Amino acid sequence: MTATRIEGKAVAAEVIEKVKAATADLAAKTGVTPGIAVVIVGEDPASQVYVRSKGRMAEECGFKSVTHRLDASTSDTDLLALVGTLNADASIHGILVQLPLPGHIDEGKVIQAIAPEKDVDGFHFINVGKLGTGELDSAFVPCTPAGSMLLIERALGKRDLSGLNAVVIGRSNIVGKPMANLLLAANATVTIAHSRTRDLPALARTADILVAAVGRPRMVTADFVKPGACVIDVGINRIPAPEKGEGATRLVGDVDFDACVEVAGSITPVPGGVGPMTIAMLMANTLAGACRAAGAQPPVL
Ligand code: NAD
Repeated sequence: MTATRIEGKAVAAEVIEKVKAATADLAAKTGVTPGIAVVIVGEDPASQVYVRSKGRMAEECGFKSVTHRLDASTSDTDLLALVGTLNADASIHGILVQLPLPGHIDEGKVIQAIAPEKDVDGFHFINVGKLGTGELDSAFVPCTPAGSMLLIERALGKRDLSGLNAVVIGRSNIVGKPMANLLLAANATVTIAHSRTRDLPALARTADILVAAVGRPRMVTADFVKPGACVIDVGINRIPAPEKGEGATRLVGDVDFDACVEVAGSITPVPGGVGPMTIAMLMANTLAGACRAAGAQPPVL
């Protein structure tokens, strides 16, 4: 049996179309245009690329988009002052401080300084707590797990996962834990596995839904996969690709796609699976922030 490929690119495009339409509708009905502010400190090349694509996508959605580029030597005090100004700016509904921040800045302090109702990354304790207690209507859910959840719903053709076993490999605060909470909120029976888990392949084989968020290239092999399972690969790993020329690299996930596609029922590719969903969900979160501020209902994705 060969699994169905879960086309994250197509689902992300669908989300963006809904966001565009709802943005135009919100502006027409309330005069409110969603606004996003992205703050980047320093010159990290990967972060620069991410920030540019977030800005481009926000403009495509019809948002007001501002990018604050700060020098790598910026102090905590100056960064916190900027966050304070953005918190008070009624035209901004989403604030994203691009991580990682330079070592001299206390990341936690900066994240907790963002107003929870503008925390579109979903990292503020208030949003973490809302997700943990099932207050999903007013929470911001971190974009990568939120996007992964949408792919699971599309692949399985349902939102209620009652009776299904889910195993999430990885317990990070930005992917593993929020992913597990989302699956639990959808009534799945959830196990979180991590680096200290015993006999991971056997545990993974109990999963109807298997999510890998580890950061180890192709760690999930066919013996991890229950026949017919839905496999979501969050991992993004750059490995050498000598076949493409000397010094060349390519991206692979945490799942050995070629082996697992023969066992799974549905599976995300890397690239083109979870990756494109992250930015789409950032747009959806920003729109939701603007809708909440205007007393309007965000679209159902
Ligand atoms: P992290 O390093 O914070 O967490 C990794 C987790 O994997 C840890 O909880 C650890 O316990 C677990 N782990 C490590 N080795 C293990 C092993 N041998 N067996 C079982 N578990 C093990 O990473 P993260 O930030 O959660 O990211 C995970 C992966 O997802 C990375 O490849 C990252 O690049 C990718 N990622 C992708 C997106 C996206 O947009 N698609 C977004 C965020 C992260």
